[in-house]
Amino acid sequence: MQDVAVPNNRAIWHRLQPALLAILLGIIGALVNSLSVPFLTNVELIFGNAAIIIGAMLFRPPLALLVALIAVTPMYFYWGHPFGYLTFGLEALVISYLRSRGRYVLFAELYYWLLIGMPLTALLIWLTSNQPDVYWLFVSLKQGFNAAIYATIGCIIAFILDRRMDVSWRQQPRIKRKLSQQLVYAIIIVTTLALISASLYISRGLIVSSHQATQSSLENRAQKLADSIHFFVNNQKSAIVIAANWMSHGQNIDRQTVLEQTHLSYAGFLTMLVADKSGEIVNASPASLMSSMTESSVKDRDYFQQAINNQSLFLSPVFLGRGFGRSVIIAISAPYYQNNDFTTPAGIVEGSLDLSFLQIFTETQSGIIPIKTIITDQHNKIIYADPTLNIEPLAEFQFDAISNAAEQQRFIMSSMPNEVFAYAKKVTPAGWQVYTIIDFDLIIKAMEQEYLAIFVSLLFTLIMSAIVAFLFGQRITKPLNFIIQQINKFDNKAIDTFKPLRESAAVEINHLYQELKRDKNMVEVHQKNLEQMVNERTRALNQANEKLQELALNDGLTKVHNRRYLDNNFAYIQKTAQRNLALMSVIIMDLDHFKRLNDNYGHLAGDEVLVKVASLVSEEFSRETDTIVRFGGEEFLVIAPYITAAALAKKLENLRVKIAETEFVDKDNQQIFRTSSSFGAIIADAEFSEDLLKWVKVADECLYQAKNSGRNKVVITDRIARVAP
Ligand code: GH3
Ligand code: MG
Ligand code: MG
Repeated sequence: MQDVAVPNNRAIWHRLQPALLAILLGIIGALVNSLSVPFLTNVELIFGNAAIIIGAMLFRPPLALLVALIAVTPMYFYWGHPFGYLTFGLEALVISYLRSRGRYVLFAELYYWLLIGMPLTALLIWLTSNQPDVYWLFVSLKQGFNAAIYATIGCIIAFILDRRMDVSWRQQPRIKRKLSQQLVYAIIIVTTLALISASLYISRGLIVSSHQATQSSLENRAQKLADSIHFFVNNQKSAIVIAANWMSHGQNIDRQTVLEQTHLSYAGFLTMLVADKSGEIVNASPASLMSSMTESSVKDRDYFQQAINNQSLFLSPVFLGRGFGRSVIIAISAPYYQNNDFTTPAGIVEGSLDLSFLQIFTETQSGIIPIKTIITDQHNKIIYADPTLNIEPLAEFQFDAISNAAEQQRFIMSSMPNEVFAYAKKVTPAGWQVYTIIDFDLIIKAMEQEYLAIFVSLLFTLIMSAIVAFLFGQRITKPLNFIIQQINKFDNKAIDTFKPLRESAAVEINHLYQELKRDKNMVEVHQKNLEQMVNERTRALNQANEKLQELALNDGLTKVHNRRYLDNNFAYIQKTAQRNLALMSVIIMDLDHFKRLNDNYGHLAGDEVLVKVASLVSEEFSRETDTIVRFGGEEFLVIAPYITAAALAKKLENLRVKIAETEFVDKDNQQIFRTSSSFGAIIADAEFSEDLLKWVKVADECLYQAKNSGRNKVVITDRIARVAP
């Protein structure tokens, strides 16, 4: 069991390894992402997503997706919505797929964000956010920049790790690329990273400082307004105090005159009135109001009761007027006395502030983005609101402050839930609140323009640097290709016909070309020598081989075949003859008393005799189909197919006579000598036997008879079974 389990575990580990490494990569990405750098509104720099890029370079889409899902998890907690899983998950799938089809990851990333990622982000924001509409373009542009930054970081990491990414568990293929492609890619990576990070850093600085400038101008303006309003209200208060004193201290005072004089001097009052201690209106300014008023008693009014009961100056909250027409007013009232009785008020003097005065304060505007104003009383009721805001006076002012970014305060008013405003707030000594606000959309629009400008200049720079890189790559590759073509085309006939390199080719490439030309020439000469040498050697070898073959199959002395030849060829000769239904003869011939001849005339003379006899046999059996073999020392074997018994007898007789008549000279003592030979032969149908030994046995028996019957004889055995065709 142990033996079986080990390879299984290894196989499982081998399959699990990529998944485990993808999880590890995802976790690293998630860790980096959880340290993400806050960046403007809603978007942070998410460097950890570089893990998605590396994941897509290493893994096929399923594991690339796994890396992305793990890496973007911190964003889910940070943003509170799961869009990241969708946009970045899709990103991983798309770029991993395109990478497996041989695309560069950075270009795949560009396609993804331009065609899917940015539109999808915009759509999601547009569908689900209650934030201003302008956000969708803004945020998706920033998302695109963000992607470009982490993608280039991922690419640079991969570039640095290069060899280390050549690992066994890698799922994506390695791709061989042209030099110009690699150059374009490298330059685009570096350009993109440099350009985007620089412009983001600069624009972030610009935006922060413009936010701060906006905020401080809001604060300044609010403070100025609060001061002006304070001054105005104080001024009006002192008018009421003066009028009350005048009425209390003067002799024979005509209150109507005092009232109208005061109103004339202090234009900030809309209307003024005097009421007696029972609250009945006794004087009014303008005087015409006395005849048109609808209600003559003010005794239920705060400003009456407070001034009478507390015997002090009173500034009312904002309320709805009645007697002199129904408008929103703020009343300032003070008691007046009569007949030097300063313990019991004789009535009140009241002035209703002309709230349209506030509009005069708020009107002066400077700057490109208009600042609007909202003023509330001490009870948070609207005294004044910019007409474009559609807020009615007297209403309670409600808003939700939203998260501050770049030291800017923002709120959303309940009356305009779709608009975000940047604001500043100041409180006057009387408890009034002055809000100065700016429509945040307008700020965003200004930023958006800046981002678009960066985006366009980025694209432009990218295109320009891609062109430059491409042309530069060509400068290197074109001469190289030219050299390759020249060297390949080159043949022996054209040893001096290399074309020159173009002038623009780099010095190193020129050197390379010179070197290659020289080498190529040398190689060519060397090759020719080599060829010649090989030819010579081959010829010698062939000759040696022929010789060897001859030696192997022929007898060295007599030049007739040897026994090996016979063993190799007997079957073929016999079968061919058998197929032709032919007769065949096997003859064994032995020189007579050869031992004695050797003894008498010497071995060399014996050899000479053997050579001569062999040539005589060859002459007699000279057909192509005849085979002559030196069978033993002074024994020859002849195979003669396609022969008749008569022809055989005649040939052997001829041969016997020729040998016997041949004269040899003994060189030592110039003596002439002769020799003779005995023949044993079998003639039979070729099908007699496939076994040479059977033929030889019969022939040998005949030879034995020839020797026994006195030598120099021919004995033939006829084993022909049927009549030859
Ligand atoms: P027989 O008539 O009974 O055949 O008598 P023989 O002497 O020819 O027979 P034997 O077989 O006794 O002798 C053969 C001799 O042939 C012995 C050997 O010295 C001689 N011989 C064999 N091969 C060679 C050779 O290559 N050159 C020479 N010179 N003599 C050879
Ligand atoms: Mg013999
Ligand atoms: Mg012999």
